[in-house]
Amino acid sequence: MKRIGVLTSGGDAPGMNAAIRAVVRSAIFNGVEVYGIKRGYTGLLAKDYAEMSLRSVGDIIHRGGTILRTARSEEFKTKEGVEKALKNIEELGIEGLVVIGGDGSFRGALELAKRGVPVIGIPGTIDNDIPCTDYTIGFDTAVNTVVEAVNKIRDTATSHERTFIIEVMGRESGYIALYSGLACGAETILIPEKPYTMKDLCDKIMNGYKRGKLHSIIILAEGAGNAYEVRDKIKEITGLESRIIVLGHLQRGGTPTAFDRIVASKMGGKAVELLLEGISGKMVGWVKGEIVVVDLEKVFSTKKPFDDELYELANVLAI
Ligand code: ADP
Repeated sequence: MKRIGVLTSGGDAPGMNAAIRAVVRSAIFNGVEVYGIKRGYTGLLAKDYAEMSLRSVGDIIHRGGTILRTARSEEFKTKEGVEKALKNIEELGIEGLVVIGGDGSFRGALELAKRGVPVIGIPGTIDNDIPCTDYTIGFDTAVNTVVEAVNKIRDTATSHERTFIIEVMGRESGYIALYSGLACGAETILIPEKPYTMKDLCDKIMNGYKRGKLHSIIILAEGAGNAYEVRDKIKEITGLESRIIVLGHLQRGGTPTAFDRIVASKMGGKAVELLLEGISGKMVGWVKGEIVVVDLEKVFSTKKPFDDELYELANVLAI
């Protein structure tokens, strides 16, 4: 193998740069050239790529976002788009491709793998919503960002004895809400996986105040309801005023945590190792603290199990 490509695609996540660095350096160490493809599949179609050197990935391990940029490409989803990508890959002489992104990016990767391009996926998304891996790159950083924000909000919440609704990312997955809620000691965690009634929510808030709680912090995943409607309902039922904080894209940026950098480095190194062994159509994952290699097909056919135990624990501890 003489030359491989690497791209980041879909939503950016802190730690993607650490993964790019690991791919580039591991490949060059093994005598393989690396081309960085800009803006995900968009750059693959537009022939927007450049050779990467050891130094081109210097001073990036601590940076959020992705130096390769990222994008969403509708064209790549079409048959013609994939054909064009295959032509460009052949022209460039890429014999393997590392795709860092979420499940959409992996679907694209699998299309290429099916047509004979050796491809390895690295899960990079703050949502941690990819099956067959305990962690995705960026999740730990995003959770820590939420925790830091809630620490600050808590000071005001306690001083003013207020209810705060903190909306975090997660349209279909409550992972960020669950982990940050547990880490922040939030009174309530509302996530798409666990339906709730406004009556139960309000009873919980009122019981908390009756038991002497000075505030109530509600972590709401985007997909679990509209923060403004929840606020209005709480007011209607309990008379309590709540404040809303929407953390939004703040959660996507920032310097990656040590954990995200370590996972990203290990995954990047493993992805190159797999390509060198002639392996394709796999995702590098992280299960019980170890690197694992999973078929991309299996990733798509598996549903990520919800961590009921953690959810129950968070509820017990928030009493
Ligand atoms: P993520 O990778 O974060 O889940 P997206 O779902 O937006 O992000 O996917 C990123 C890109 O991957 C899309 O813009 C598209 O180019 C490509 N992609 C997504 N789904 C498919 C698919 N079914 N077939 C081919 N390419 C896809």
